[in-house]
Amino acid sequence: MIKFLDLQQLNQPFEAQFLSKTKEFLDTGWYILGNEVRQFEKSFASYSNAKYCIGVGNGLDALILILKANIQLGNLQKGDEVIVPANTYIATVLAILQADLVPVFVEPDIETYNINPNLIAEKITSKTKAILLVHLYGQLVKMEEITAISEKYNLLIIEDAAQAHGLSFVGKYTRAFSFYPGKNLGALGDGGAITTDDDKLAELLYSLRNYGSDKKYHNDYVGINSRLDELQAAFLSIKLPYLDAENIARQKIAKRYLAEISNSKIVLPTCEKMDNHVFHLFVIRTENRDELKEYLLKNGIETIIHYPIPPHKQKALQDFNTINLPITEKIHREVLSLPISSVLSHTEVSHIIATLNNY
Ligand SMILES: *Cc1c(COP(=O)(O)O)cnc(C)c1O
Repeated sequence: MIKFLDLQQLNQPFEAQFLSKTKEFLDTGWYILGNEVRQFEKSFASYSNAKYCIGVGNGLDALILILKANIQLGNLQKGDEVIVPANTYIATVLAILQADLVPVFVEPDIETYNINPNLIAEKITSKTKAILLVHLYGQLVKMEEITAISEKYNLLIIEDAAQAHGLSFVGKYTRAFSFYPGKNLGALGDGGAITTDDDKLAELLYSLRNYGSDKKYHNDYVGINSRLDELQAAFLSIKLPYLDAENIARQKIAKRYLAEISNSKIVLPTCEKMDNHVFHLFVIRTENRDELKEYLLKNGIETIIHYPIPPHKQKALQDFNTINLPITEKIHREVLSLPISSVLSHTEVSHIIATLNNY
């Protein structure tokens, strides 16, 4: 059976280093916000060409903290509208709601699955103050159009980069990352980070993630407890030097899928430039998606649906259930994610391709 993602196999090469780091960690007796978090923050900021990195508990908190910090700084106000792609993982939308802001859904481009820049302007009102972008499946959003819109309407740009570690980003915006185990850079538990070049924002974020406190038992803000775990930071520091190789391996498999899958029943993803895609997911579309999933499983290939229900149709988002977003709904009905990661062998990829071509 070819697993969708074999995390045990993916992390196995690091096991000896994980064990020796864990011993070091046990010997220090320092468990929260210590050297490992500081070291990882430094390395990830430098890797990301950002001035600051703030380690946090997970990707959702990274997004919530960015939005709350912008409210604290007066850049946003409770009740402001935030433009968000309708086709995303629900975390992006939950963050907006948790920060007492209002999500305004914009349909994706059916070619890229990312937000369609041409559909943003018609959704802008006097209350619109920000665009929360998502580089979905690891593909860079068309930034030129977005930057033009943000300048014209004076909107803050924030990026949900939870699926886009190692992407060549365009522009110096504040970004949220998740180190959920299945991401391109994954921890062995929950983890997240924010990168930014903004001095004031960074200072506030270091405080907000830690009870709004810079100095123990002195609380300047109504913060939360969302700190990157010391041990997870240590594991991430071990894996970070291999992130580029992981992404190159993913791009190589994507190239083969794009060149060799030829079945008129299957729509392949578009990728104008390999440099603009780190292939967190390789997502195909087909009319009888569940039937294809079953067929692949019978042939020893596990696939996953990202995602079966769009955010606006979820029970948790009842106020939005009646909005009409036909492209988003079509995508959620038809998508299927193929296995893609550095642990897949050439033979396994060939088997996946041949099986799809025989469907
Ligand atoms: C994974 C993910 C998140 C949330 O990350 P967690 O660490 O699981 O909280 C947010 N947005 C997107 C697009 C994601 O894929």
